[in-house]
Amino acid sequence: MFDIIVLGAGASGIVAAITAKREKPSLRIAIIESMPVIGKKVLATGNGRCNLSNINALKHEYYNKAFATNILPKYDVNKTLEFFNSIGLYTVTDDEGRIYPMSNTATSVVDVLRFECERLGITVITDEKISNIKKNGDFFVLGGRHRAKKVILACGGKASPSQGSDGSGFEILNDLGHTIQKPLPALVQLVSDNKIVRSFKGIRVKGKIKIFAENEEIGKAEGEILFTEYGLSGIASMDAQRILCSHLDNKKCSVVIDLVPEFSKEEIRQRINSTISNNPALKSENLLIGFLPKKISKGLIKCAYVKDNTPINEISEDNLQKICDLCKSFRVYISASKGFENAQVTRGGADVSEFDANTLESLKIKGLYVTGELLDVDGGCGGFNLQWAWSSGMTAGENAANI
Ligand SMILES: Cc1cc2nc3c(=O)[nH]c(=O)nc-3n(C[C@H](O)[C@H](O)[C@H](O)COP(=O)(O)OP(=O)(O)OC[C@H]3O[C@@H](n4cnc5c(N)ncnc54)[C@H](O)[C@@H]3O)c2cc1C
Repeated sequence: MFDIIVLGAGASGIVAAITAKREKPSLRIAIIESMPVIGKKVLATGNGRCNLSNINALKHEYYNKAFATNILPKYDVNKTLEFFNSIGLYTVTDDEGRIYPMSNTATSVVDVLRFECERLGITVITDEKISNIKKNGDFFVLGGRHRAKKVILACGGKASPSQGSDGSGFEILNDLGHTIQKPLPALVQLVSDNKIVRSFKGIRVKGKIKIFAENEEIGKAEGEILFTEYGLSGIASMDAQRILCSHLDNKKCSVVIDLVPEFSKEEIRQRINSTISNNPALKSENLLIGFLPKKISKGLIKCAYVKDNTPINEISEDNLQKICDLCKSFRVYISASKGFENAQVTRGGADVSEFDANTLESLKIKGLYVTGELLDVDGGCGGFNLQWAWSSGMTAGENAANI
């Protein structure tokens, strides 16, 4: 019999176990993990660099923000960094507030967490997937054989199932009587059937995106946009998908990209005019190369129905205006997302109204705590989801240790 079993050795589960053990060293604590190693998903975060937090986390627009902002202040960014410093990990912050390990590698993050589990004598059981949990009087039975006074469920959502989070936590919680809001993939690439967009494959721009479901503008995103053979990737596109995620199945969705946020439409027109007066015989596809990659210049000229190789001084006034409009408002219709396989996070999950917003204990089952992505809380790109995992894990760990 353990005092606490943490199910899932991802970001939130590992810190939950460490926090509980530090809170009360006499407790017998185990982590059970279905993968052969702990922290597998953390290794993949931030392209292997682990963007572990963001200095703007408290201001961030989390989904179910009211619930999240109840938890985040107690274990905020400073407390999280203090925690990591205490186990020997130091960090750096970039210009946009994103925090990374100083070693620039996610391996360091998982290593320091693993060493701390070992140092504290936390039992780590790997390669064991638990499919059910039963409450039997004062204790829980996991998978018919592990017993614990308290359970912290930290199984993650359904995003990126190859790293272990296959949605089984939702099934366990549902069997225990909790409501699960429909899980949807979030922070994932956008698919577009637009051939011109696909022809931009490989190009990166820093742009601003307005996001539309039907004709209604529902949000904005900003940052890197990467054009690919299937549509749009890059941080701004993934953030846009998160805003669109609940509309993609049933509404006509589009994003309108400002490809040249540095210049107003009038400034673009002035630059075009000076290119025309400097070199009137220049071919149309080169009209925009002073501020956009040639492939995009060519694509936008095509969208304005200007023939290839037209000398730029022969482009009509109307078409020049259309080209300026396209630079500032290039609409891309979206047909789908790249799904859970590629998603960074899950929208949906355990209904937050069924959990104590201070302790993360279930309001239905005493002694059961839930953390991280299993809860219906998610954030955008930039370290916000890991910060939620750390904060919720530490909260559940601290409260579960109160035995
Ligand atoms: C490719 C990628 C890159 C990302 N990059 C970033 C980033 O840079 N910054 C950021 O903030 N966020 C990032 N995220 C999101 C972030 O990783 C997650 O939000 C966070 O890891 C969620 O933590 P968690 O503890 O809730 O779940 P997870 O980290 O998913 O951990 C859940 C664990 O539970 C185990 N498990 C599940 N079910 C069972 C079961 N039935 N029995 C036993 N074990 C089980 C799983 O194997 C897994 O190890 C990224 C995600 C992906 C996929």
